[in-house]
Amino acid sequence: MNPPSPKSHAAGTAASTTVAIVGRPNVGKSALFNRLAGRRISIVHDQPGVTRDRLCAPCVRGKKSFMVFDTGGIGSVVDAGFSEQIRAEADIAIETAGIILLVVDGQTGLASVDEELAKHLRRVHKPLILVVNKVDHDKHSDFESDFARLGFDSVVSVSAEHNRGIGELIERIENLLPETPGAVSEEPAAKPLKIAVVGRPNVGKSSLVNAILEDRRTLVSPIPGTTRDAVDVPYERAGEHFVLIDTAGIRPRGKRGDSVEIFSVMRAESSIHRAALCVLVIDGTAGVTAQDKKIAGLIRDEEKPCVVIVNKSDLLDSEREVSAVLKSIRDELFFLDYAPIILLSAKTGKDVHRLFRGIRNVRENAAVKIGTGVLNRLFQTALESNPPPLRQNKRFRLLYATQIDQDSRERIRPPAFLLFVNDPDLLPPTYRKYLEGQIREKASYDGLPVLFRFRGRQRD
Ligand code: GDP
Repeated sequence: MNPPSPKSHAAGTAASTTVAIVGRPNVGKSALFNRLAGRRISIVHDQPGVTRDRLCAPCVRGKKSFMVFDTGGIGSVVDAGFSEQIRAEADIAIETAGIILLVVDGQTGLASVDEELAKHLRRVHKPLILVVNKVDHDKHSDFESDFARLGFDSVVSVSAEHNRGIGELIERIENLLPETPGAVSEEPAAKPLKIAVVGRPNVGKSSLVNAILEDRRTLVSPIPGTTRDAVDVPYERAGEHFVLIDTAGIRPRGKRGDSVEIFSVMRAESSIHRAALCVLVIDGTAGVTAQDKKIAGLIRDEEKPCVVIVNKSDLLDSEREVSAVLKSIRDELFFLDYAPIILLSAKTGKDVHRLFRGIRNVRENAAVKIGTGVLNRLFQTALESNPPPLRQNKRFRLLYATQIDQDSRERIRPPAFLLFVNDPDLLPPTYRKYLEGQIREKASYDGLPVLFRFRGRQRD
């Protein structure tokens, strides 16, 4: 077979540097994974249910490095039906990888499952290389013309076990990788972090912003926000750049009582939306009110990182008063339980610096990633030790999970996980909370909501 040069590949360049290995059982996906990942092959097994210790590993054998992802390893995560399993693996590859390697068996030839898979994969326009494995001797297989029928431009014959053709395969992959994979993360001028200071009137937002600026407010000229609801105040602290979105800076004139409160919630909404992190100010002497709860709800709905400030700590005289307000926050704002609570006094300036330590913590937490292998084992253990309840005789099943990579240059991105499941509706909120708890035990995500995105199985 004389495959066309990789440059002629119709699908062009990949959008991500993850390469997924897809194929029916026994074609040698695991062997190929081990070969690309540069690991010694001890046991090669493609039988469903055999646990593989890793799903993802870097391949550093060529000039460019990339991640290889063995979708066959997903079989160890759940016990699903055969075709269902293969289909799920393909879907996961489509969703998560930039390049797909469809592996077929050069010794036994084309199977109907291969054709089905090929058909399924062709529908998405992702760069794909057909890898004919187990071509141990000459660089050809007896089934060349069958494989050609699948209609893929890029075909490579390899023997994963005997390390033949792997160099060529890596070259093909490299040609499909984005030109400068590091370009996105190359030192961009760090954009200032937008922080919204929100809360109902009179909790001390203005005072807090002034305390942060140490009364240098007159030295900085506020930039009007994109709406007239807030002013953006640039602020630098220890070499870090921030923009404080100050909703207190503008007050509605001529409004009194309730309408002021309601108006303040509306103003908070657009500031929360624009912010990378929200600082929710609560008046420690008043505890949590209905308006506080509304604003907190907006933060949760917008899935924003958050720090809760208990202001006016100078007026809290006893431990008892402090614990009462902390308890009211935890009880009333239970949906915001990921937010750390910081006590300070804007008026006296006491502990105002702790706010920025808190923000730095949240930012660092957002950088923590859980590896795919670790994540899947974590979920597997969680599901086994405490199985989800039956719903209408059906049980929630997880096929595979991966943390979503997010560009975080100007934002603090909350950790988000993509879960491939049988049916997201089978997951009760309490069980979802349980899974979230398992993640939080693994990684410190204080200040950040943990987000789940679901992909249900598509039936045709
Ligand atoms: P905003 O409407 O949320 O911006 O609230 P302000 O900053 O205007 O504060 C409302 C009132 O609370 C003012 O009288 C402030 O002096 C007072 N205040 C703000 N922070 C503190 C604090 O930490 N301690 C005390 N005792 N009073 C405060």
